[in-house]
Amino acid sequence: DRLIAADELPREGRLDHAIRPRQLSDYVGQPRVREQLDIFIQAARRRGDSLDHTLIFGPPGLGKTTLANIIAEEMGVDIKSTSGPVLEKAGDLAAMLTSLEPGDVLFIDEIHRLSSAVEEVLYPAMEDYQLDIMIGEGPAARSIKIDLPKFTLVGATTRAGLLTSPLRDRFGIVQRLEFYNVADLTHIVSRSARLLGVDADEEGAAEIARRARGTPRIANRLLRRVRDFTEVRSDGRLNADIADQALNMLHVDRHGLDHMDRRLLMTMIDKFEGGPVGVDSLAAAISEERDTIEDVLEPYLIQQGFILRTARGRMVTRQAYLHFGIDPTDCDAS
Ligand code: ADP
Repeated sequence: DRLIAADELPREGRLDHAIRPRQLSDYVGQPRVREQLDIFIQAARRRGDSLDHTLIFGPPGLGKTTLANIIAEEMGVDIKSTSGPVLEKAGDLAAMLTSLEPGDVLFIDEIHRLSSAVEEVLYPAMEDYQLDIMIGEGPAARSIKIDLPKFTLVGATTRAGLLTSPLRDRFGIVQRLEFYNVADLTHIVSRSARLLGVDADEEGAAEIARRARGTPRIANRLLRRVRDFTEVRSDGRLNADIADQALNMLHVDRHGLDHMDRRLLMTMIDKFEGGPVGVDSLAAAISEERDTIEDVLEPYLIQQGFILRTARGRMVTRQAYLHFGIDPTDCDAS
């Protein structure tokens, strides 16, 4: 498994539970999102109403699930969680919807992966709080309508562009999460260290933050690995020097890139002369899913200025060459 993959390993779930922020005030960074949600939540509460359906998008590990749980917590309601691929049939969604209490949050992760049959059931549920479903087959089939309690759908997706427009249009609130800056990530690492009982100083936390790909989940995961290193190789105090040694051992470089990032960039440089190259050719060249490139690898590399997305495909930038100590003029064909 990729060390700095943004997906959570199951065995780390319990630790993660302990450090996941529960309230908006514990949610670090994303000031624009926090401010807006704070207002919308307060307004809905004052009116005694449920919050409008909310779509949250952004790369994995930036805090979409956390935010869905915070919304429920702040609204004082329960949350029921599921995901696009799990809801295979219309009946699966119907079962979730009919189990909701008034005001509850229904969280659907990877909402872009809903089948069209399930999406059809979701439209009237979102709009009119009605379940409109066919039961039975053949001549005996009939449609039944069931009134649902008013609820809040919170959908999460990696890219807003993956949603069909009828689905996207039914969300009253749309929030986009950005990669975190080093100061915010340092805050997150320090907070997690405190909750995990790790003795980490500010510079140690900052070193982990700088190398966490702008992603809280990765920051927390690196913290756990650096903690292991600290306990075995030093006196238990996590400082910048120890963090640096541990992260070097883990092959996380000074920009927070791991072997997958480096492989992607080096493949673009070596096999495609720096691009432009189409994402499918790139996926084939590094034996990865196209989705992994688009959702996990590329967003951070673009944000950091290593890759450019052009109409003709992806290109590496001058900065990428310099990162590997290659003189970009040596490679310039023109
Ligand atoms: P996503 O659903 O976007 O993949 P999660 O909500 O599961 O991401 O976040 C991953 C982990 O990162 C969470 O368990 C939480 O501990 C941490 N995290 C995410 N966002 C924040 C934040 N704003 N402040 C503090 N910790 C955060």
